[in-house]
Amino acid sequence: MAIVGAGVTGCSCALTLADAGLRVRVHEAREVAGGASGRNGGFALRGAAAPYDVVRAELGERAASLWRLTEGALERLAGLAGIFHPPDGSIQPARWVRRLAVQAAEAGAEIREHDPVTALEELDADQVVLATDGYTHGLLEMLDRAVKPARGQVVVTEPLGDEYFACPHYSRHRYDYWQQTPDLRLVLGGFRDTAPEEESTAEEATTPGIQARLESFARELVGRAPKITHRWSGIFGVTEDRLPLAGLMPGYDGLWVACGYSGHGNVLGLACGDLVASAILARPAPELQFFDPERRL
Ligand SMILES: Cc1cc2nc3c(=O)[nH]c(=O)nc-3n(C[C@H](O)[C@H](O)[C@H](O)COP(=O)(O)OP(=O)(O)OC[C@H]3O[C@@H](n4cnc5c(N)ncnc54)[C@H](O)[C@@H]3O)c2cc1C
Repeated sequence: MAIVGAGVTGCSCALTLADAGLRVRVHEAREVAGGASGRNGGFALRGAAAPYDVVRAELGERAASLWRLTEGALERLAGLAGIFHPPDGSIQPARWVRRLAVQAAEAGAEIREHDPVTALEELDADQVVLATDGYTHGLLEMLDRAVKPARGQVVVTEPLGDEYFACPHYSRHRYDYWQQTPDLRLVLGGFRDTAPEEESTAEEATTPGIQARLESFARELVGRAPKITHRWSGIFGVTEDRLPLAGLMPGYDGLWVACGYSGHGNVLGLACGDLVASAILARPAPELQFFDPERRL
C-alpha cells in the first residue's frame, strides 16, 4: 500500500490500514502536516464546506448521514486533540496531525518524509491513495482538472499580554477567522475573497494586499497595531460542488483518492482517510458514496 501525502487524510488512512495489519508506506514531499494540515485556521467543524441546505440540495436526505459522519470524526478528533467551542471545536492543527502520524507509525506504517512522488508509476504498490488535497497537481491530469488549488493566508501577532478572545471566532461566512493561542498571540486568517483570482493559485506565498488587510483587521480587533511575528500561506483543494472526492478513481485499478475538502478538511479529512482505508479493506461504509469521484471526473 502506498499513500501520497501525510496530512490529516494520509495519516488517517495510514492508521486504519496499518491497524488492520497491512503494509503501508506514506510518501510525503515535505514533513508530516507540511501542507494545509499544518497551516490552517484550526477550526474543527462538523459538516461540509457548503452549508447544510446547499448539501441537502445535492445529496437529499443523505446530507444528514454526512453530518453524522463528521460528528463521529469530531468525537475521534476530540480524543487526540485539545478541543473546545461546542458544538464545533478548535485544534492546533499541525500538532494533532503529528499525533495521528505517530499513531499510524506505531501501528506499523512507514512514513517517508522529504520523499516527493513525481510519477505514479514509481510507486511499487498494489493500491495507491492520493491524499494530496490542494497540492494535487502533476500526478494525474484528470484529478488536476477536478480539484482546483486555492490559497489561504495567515498572520500571527506577538503575545498580546491580555486575553481578547476566549474562544475561536469566524465572520463573513467563515472567510475571516481568528483565535488566541495559549501564549496570547492572535492567529488571524482570511480575506481571500477580496482577491479571488489572485488567490486561486497553488503558489504558496503571501501577498502584500491580503497581508495588509489581515494586519488592519488585527489592529481593529485589538485596538492598536500589534507586531506581526509570523506570516504564512497554505493551499487547499476546491471541487465544483465543494464536496470532497473520495473513493476509487474511475478507470484505474487500485488507485484511490481522498481530497478536495474545499477548505473544510480538518474533520472531513479524518473521516475520508478512514473511509477510503475501510473500502480498501473490503468493508466500505455507505457514506463513501457521497464523495464518489465519478460524479466530477
Ligand atoms: C490557511 C488555511 C486555513 C484553513 N482553515 C481550515 C479550518 O479552520 N478548518 C478546516 O476544517 N479546514 C481548514 N483548511 C483546510 C484544511 O487545512 C485542509 O482541508 C486539510 O488540511 C486537508 O488535509 P489533507 O491531508 O487532505 O491535505 P494536506 O494537509 O494539504 O496534505 C497533503 C500533503 O500531500 C503532500 N504532497 C502533495 N503532492 C505530493 C507528491 N507528489 N509527493 C509527496 N507528497 C505530496 C503535500 O506536501 C502535503 O503535505 C484551511 C486551509 C488553509 C490553507
